[in-house]
Amino acid sequence: MTRIYFSESSSELRGFESAARSLLKWFAEYGRRFPWRGEVGWYGVLVAETMLIRTRAEVAEKVFLEFMEEFPKPGLLCSSELTRVVNYFRKLGLPDRAGRLVKAVCAILSSYGGEVPCDYAKLRELPGVGDYIARVILSRVCGRKYAFVDSNVLRVLSRFYGRPMSISETARALEESLSQRNLLEVNVALIDLGASICRPRKPRCPDCPLRSSCSSYPVFLEK
Ligand code: SF4
Repeated sequence: MTRIYFSESSSELRGFESAARSLLKWFAEYGRRFPWRGEVGWYGVLVAETMLIRTRAEVAEKVFLEFMEEFPKPGLLCSSELTRVVNYFRKLGLPDRAGRLVKAVCAILSSYGGEVPCDYAKLRELPGVGDYIARVILSRVCGRKYAFVDSNVLRVLSRFYGRPMSISETARALEESLSQRNLLEVNVALIDLGASICRPRKPRCPDCPLRSSCSSYPVFLEK
């Protein structure tokens, strides 16, 4: 059974502890299993997150697997013709992302000796690496205490607390309220909950592990 540890300085998400326990229990049973959630290193994480921006994970999964089969190593990607890379991103309707990914991967090879820099500012200097991707790399690859807040996480926590929350506020609250060892798992569980239960339209509140303490639960039931 998953154990959960909280920071002593828990602030804005005070009261989230028991909800997070329920969330992790739910995640252990219903969490989605995507190939990039395994040990894929900085290269696999960067490729996946570049594909996932504004793309549904289920759609990106097949393209990711094909891509990693053709370009299993960063060096191979760097020495390949760009048109071969673009073809994969075209399948996602995002051909312009290919060039930025290749530039970022080549920069990591040439400037950092093939080790991703575990530094927010340096990551943001890489082509195509915005705040979200930088945070995912820092959390998943570097083991640092960074939350990554996508539209799913934002929606779930805004509904849970019954008020609009900004991305930066939500990230800060998660980082301050959860211990490092739980932050990543809770973060990913919130993404999956938002994608499958707390959906933008017609959330499945009766199936939600957070319903007993969610501020919006009665609201959505009454609609
Ligand atoms: S109870 Fe409903 S509104 Fe609240 S977090 Fe769960 S799915 Fe979202």
